[in-house]
Amino acid sequence: MKKQVLALALAALMVGSLSACGGSTAETTAAATEAATTQAETTKAEAEKEETTAGEVSTEAPGEAAGGVLTMATNAEFPPYEFHDGGEIVGIDVEIAEAIAEKLGMTLEIEDIAFDSIIPEVDSGKADIGLAGMTVSEDRLKNVDFSEPYTTASQVIIVKNESDIAGPDDLAGKYIGVQLGTTGDIYASDYEEEGSTIERYSKGFEAVQAMMQGKIDAVVIDLEPAKVFVSENEGIKILDEALTVEEYAIAVKKGNTELVEKLNGALAELKDSGELQAIIDKYISAE
Ligand code: GLN
Repeated sequence: MKKQVLALALAALMVGSLSACGGSTAETTAAATEAATTQAETTKAEAEKEETTAGEVSTEAPGEAAGGVLTMATNAEFPPYEFHDGGEIVGIDVEIAEAIAEKLGMTLEIEDIAFDSIIPEVDSGKADIGLAGMTVSEDRLKNVDFSEPYTTASQVIIVKNESDIAGPDDLAGKYIGVQLGTTGDIYASDYEEEGSTIERYSKGFEAVQAMMQGKIDAVVIDLEPAKVFVSENEGIKILDEALTVEEYAIAVKKGNTELVEKLNGALAELKDSGELQAIIDKYISAE
């Protein structure tokens, strides 16, 4: 909102200075109209921007923490790590970030964006950390640094109960749904050589829905969200065989060793105190 007010004030200034330039009235008016139009566009763009960042949630009153703000970029479509619950973004990653921020004396702010925008957001410095069930990979390490891992994960296959797909070999030639830009996407993409078609969705659950509607044959996604989606929907199951072994860690701008060290210090404390396990146990029941 503040940005819009500022943009309006700027437009007023522009129109004012244009009229002050002299010129013919017609010219001035045209220029002023143009400025006003540009302004309208700017305001619209700002409004849209406001909309896309509407997921921002501050967990504390601004200025409460002396250590400043810790901005976390995430994609809150990944239960139980980050998801919407009523008007709030909650989950394992959110609680880990809150606990870390508290230890660092910082205020946590959450930015809910597309999963494949998280690394660019961290890389550009707009967000301090990327915390989104994000797997450490060689490729990602080219663009960001990672903290120590805080948990392990794997990719699994979800199919309809009556599916003839019983394991990864059966994915050949099939329609496979994934979340865009994830390790599931990377894994499944190898099957393109075997005649499979990869359908990429912005949310993992959209892939699951497409499968339930019969548009695709299988979904490759991380185990824990898979468990949530399967428990909330009839007629679908997770195949036993895990496809990968992965580690989730916190992404930080490349070269920001100071922050990585702070995060690792806080994570080590959370591990030692049992707090990290308690957060995980709150969302994932042991089998
Ligand atoms: N662990 C997967 C990855 O890093 C998926 C993460 C996600 O969808 N939030 O790509």
